[in-house]
Amino acid sequence: MDTKSRKDGTPSTTLHDRFGRKLNSLRISVTQKCNLKCFYCHREGEVSASHEMTKEEIAKIAEIACELGMKKVKLTGGEPLLRDDLPEIVSEIAECADEVSLTTNGVLLEKYAQTLFNAGLKRVNVSLPSLNPERFQKITEKDCVQQVRDGIKAAAQSHLHPVKINMVMMKGINVDEIPRAIDFAQDVGAILQLIEFQPIQPENYVCWKTFHCNPVPIENWLKEKALAVQENPLHKRKRYLLEKNGHPVYVEIVRPIHNSAFCQNCTRLRVTSDGKLKPCLLRNDNLVDIISLIRQGAKSNELKEAFKEAVMLREPYWREKNENPSQVLCKLSGTVRKN
Ligand code: SAM
Repeated sequence: MDTKSRKDGTPSTTLHDRFGRKLNSLRISVTQKCNLKCFYCHREGEVSASHEMTKEEIAKIAEIACELGMKKVKLTGGEPLLRDDLPEIVSEIAECADEVSLTTNGVLLEKYAQTLFNAGLKRVNVSLPSLNPERFQKITEKDCVQQVRDGIKAAAQSHLHPVKINMVMMKGINVDEIPRAIDFAQDVGAILQLIEFQPIQPENYVCWKTFHCNPVPIENWLKEKALAVQENPLHKRKRYLLEKNGHPVYVEIVRPIHNSAFCQNCTRLRVTSDGKLKPCLLRNDNLVDIISLIRQGAKSNELKEAFKEAVMLREPYWREKNENPSQVLCKLSGTVRKN
């Protein structure tokens, strides 16, 4: 653990895990409810949840995380915009965090973008599995791609920059739409994030086997077209600068599976919607219950200890020598413990 002085003179702490990875971001699931039914969804690796956290509890967890150096906070779900108190949650967290961001399906974003920006939200990721209305409906069970497109535009106009469009790549479903998605991202001034499909929920393993698309050829195609390649420090994700008709557009690849560099450069801790610290998206056998401590009136120091315990439980999931994805599912159901 490093302790340094902040500009205002108060000490600030940075946590590192046993593998030397620095923790600087927190990803909080604020609900499990969702207004879409995307067949591929990993639901942030949550298998079930009891009661949702209140806004005060979320704010408390974020405050402790910020004191421990995790000053980038991302809100996720379920669909975070289904929470009426989301602007208040954002504004509470913005008091202590350097950056509050959101990942959303975008359906309600047009309505809330400006309010969220005013509350202190810095940027937004919007899921868009297809631009084609029929395909979008098949994937999500809702006919609302236009609402999502409007939400993306509203976010860009509300200065929630950069807007990132998240597209999970699926063979036979949407891979052929990548060039169109790049054009759309360019038109609206967004970054396109192409995400490898992960087999996280037990019920989507069969579907993963059918639709998983190898991202390497897509990455090679981007490499050939790119004017420049950058690297996002988080997960060492590659970001390709493309150009069309004199206008730039960035495409980032999120390629976690069997990618040890991805895990070596993971700097985030997660919080489930029912208040458990979650060291890894792919595991549910090492959660740390912080919400019970909060509900019992624990002091900040005790909450910090819970954070430190979760950080010490972190392990890179994908390493040089690794298991196959079906073992992920065994871990999720708690049948295998990793020691
Ligand atoms: N409802 C919000 C949304 O759609 O962004 C937040 C929840 S969603 C689980 C968060 C992110 O996970 C989205 O960017 C989505 O594209 C991504 N995602 C969902 N299922 C996935 C999967 N099986 N593999 C990879 N990414 C996935």
